[in-house]
Amino acid sequence: MIPELSSPSVCMRDPQRVEEIIKAMQKAGTSKIQVISDFDMTLTRFAYNGKRCPTSHNILDNSKLISEECKAQLKDLRNTYYPIEIDSKRTAEEKLPLMVEWWTKAHTLLVQQRIRKDLLQDVVKESDAMLREGYQLFFGHLQEHSIPLLIFSAGLGDVLEEVIRQAGVFHPNVKVFSNYMDFDETGVLKAFKEELIHIYNKREGALLNTGHFQELKSRHNILLVGDSLGDLTMADGVHSMENILKIGFLNDKVEERKTSYLNAYDIVLVKDETMEVPNALLLHLT
Ligand code: C5P
Ligand code: MG
Repeated sequence: MIPELSSPSVCMRDPQRVEEIIKAMQKAGTSKIQVISDFDMTLTRFAYNGKRCPTSHNILDNSKLISEECKAQLKDLRNTYYPIEIDSKRTAEEKLPLMVEWWTKAHTLLVQQRIRKDLLQDVVKESDAMLREGYQLFFGHLQEHSIPLLIFSAGLGDVLEEVIRQAGVFHPNVKVFSNYMDFDETGVLKAFKEELIHIYNKREGALLNTGHFQELKSRHNILLVGDSLGDLTMADGVHSMENILKIGFLNDKVEERKTSYLNAYDIVLVKDETMEVPNALLLHLT
């Protein structure tokens, strides 16, 4: 049906079911679709030329705005907690408090660095942040068809918004839900705003209640794109959902995690650094 679904990076537990979902979504039409996507390691690349690409946190962690001592502390946190995040032997329940601990400790360190808002633009410019190949088509196609794109990220909203702005794809149909920085009157980071978003509390339902998403209420068909099992709840609470197609990038610890990804995502993209499959699906659906 879609040639890209036969590419070697694509794995599906139930290809027939995928075909059924796609057919149903195509039949309902473009006006019923919304896309909900994670940011880090989903819209951005996991690796480039064998080197890891930064998350929105890492963009800041590795920047000139952070002291050498603090860089070392953030690195220690990453070395402690990232292996836990991707550990297939621990349950989400076991990981949750540890992930909250990681985010909380990291944010506390960032606040101590008295980061200046006006320097974030430079930091992103000077970083190795990279959106996945084919991102222009992805963002452009959604914009062209007025399909809302909700980016739901446990990363740093101020940083990731700057990444998509600098890439020239922060179109009006794009909304971001993430962790935002709170700056004092002189433009220095003093805290993080509102409730922390970490990898295990991503739920659109809670956000819908804030009234931001009236326009989404008539869009019952969801294309969900993520890279973590925590991303699977991003569409929870979408009003009377009819169809959902879940696409998951499996970037790291492939062998250990493949089965759980196949059980959770409809389409698993193994070590695929491109947006080719999501783009092919969008072209087919619209
Ligand atoms: O955008 P997304 O929701 O994927 O952002 C979360 C990612 O940020 C996690 O997968 C985690 O590995 C990473 N992270 C980080 N530094 C932190 C906390 C989380 O790089 N302090
Ligand atoms: Mg992610």
